[in-house]
Parts: sequence; structure tokens; C-alpha cells
Amino acid sequence: MKNKFEIEFSALSQNEAFARMCIVSFLLPRDPTVGEINDIKTAVSEAVTNCIIHGYCGRSDGTVKMCASLDENDLYIEISDSGCGIEDIEAARKPLFTTKPECERSGMGFTVMEAFMDTLAVRSEKNIGTKVIMTKKLRG
Ligand code: ATP
Ligand code: MG
Repeated sequence: MKNKFEIEFSALSQNEAFARMCIVSFLLPRDPTVGEINDIKTAVSEAVTNCIIHGYCGRSDGTVKMCASLDENDLYIEISDSGCGIEDIEAARKPLFTTKPECERSGMGFTVMEAFMDTLAVRSEKNIGTKVIMTKKLRG
């Protein structure tokens, strides 16, 4: 049976933890492994942080949307903002690429999402927003 949820929350840094807990609570009945939980919550955290820090540049009036579905073993997660968008997606996905080195960002967020999930797709339009779509097959 397919299960899904959709939430929208303010682009505030304290909501990173909220988003992480939501995805973990959603997955728990499926009995994922500790490794799977860690991978997924880290990837969600990176995507949400990007929306808050980059999409809205710290402006707190924006919102972040997260929807997820679980169909048997197939997990699908979409995280999006209506912020500034990404100028060059290909460059942004490269390891160590960051537009905020002064904020001690390391440019590894997309690389982590890619490594911890099975697939990562990034859609973005300037001044419209950014959507990250991640999938993972649960094996635990
Ligand atoms: P780190 O994640 O290691 O702290 P980072 O956030 O700069 O550093 P990535 O998460 O890989 O690194 O993102 C790379 C770049 O892509 C960012 O520096 C930013 O320019 C752009 N970016 C990522 N997500 C968004 C977003 N939601 N809106 C606008 N720009 C984004
Ligand atoms: Mg990042």
C-alpha cells in the first residue's frame, strides 16, 4: 500500500530538525535500518538547509515544501522552495562548489545527497525556485 505526506514550513533553521524528524517518523513503521535512516535524514537535512540558506538567503518569510511517498520499498522525496533559484545546476552539483564560502559552506551538500540516495534530480528556475527530487530503495 502506498503511503504519502506533504508538509510546508517556514524557512527557519530550527525547522531543519523538524523536517528530519518528520521523514524518520514517516519511515519508522517500515522498519528501516539505522544506516538507511541516517542516510535519508542527512540527505533531507542538506536539501532543506539549501532552501533556507541559499534559496531564501536567510529571509524567513519563505516556506519550504516537503512531500514524500513510500510504495513498498520505493521511497520518493521532493523538497522545494520558491526562492532565488540556481544559476548553473551542473556547476552547483559538483563537489566543493559553493556560492557561500564566506559562510563556511563546503560545497558538499549535493554530493552528500547523491551519495546517500539512489537518485537525485535538481530542477531550478531563476527567481521561481528550486526542487530537489530524491529516491531510494529500502532494503532493510
Ligand atoms: P554545504 O552544503 O557543504 O554546506 P553548499 O550548500 O554551498 O555547502 P551544496 O549544498 O552542494 O553546497 O550546494 C551548492 C550550491 O548550489 C550552493 O552554494 C548554492 O549556490 C546552490 N544551491 C543549492 N541549493 C539551492 C537552493 N535551494 N536555492 C538556490 N541555490 C541553491
Ligand atoms: Mg548545502
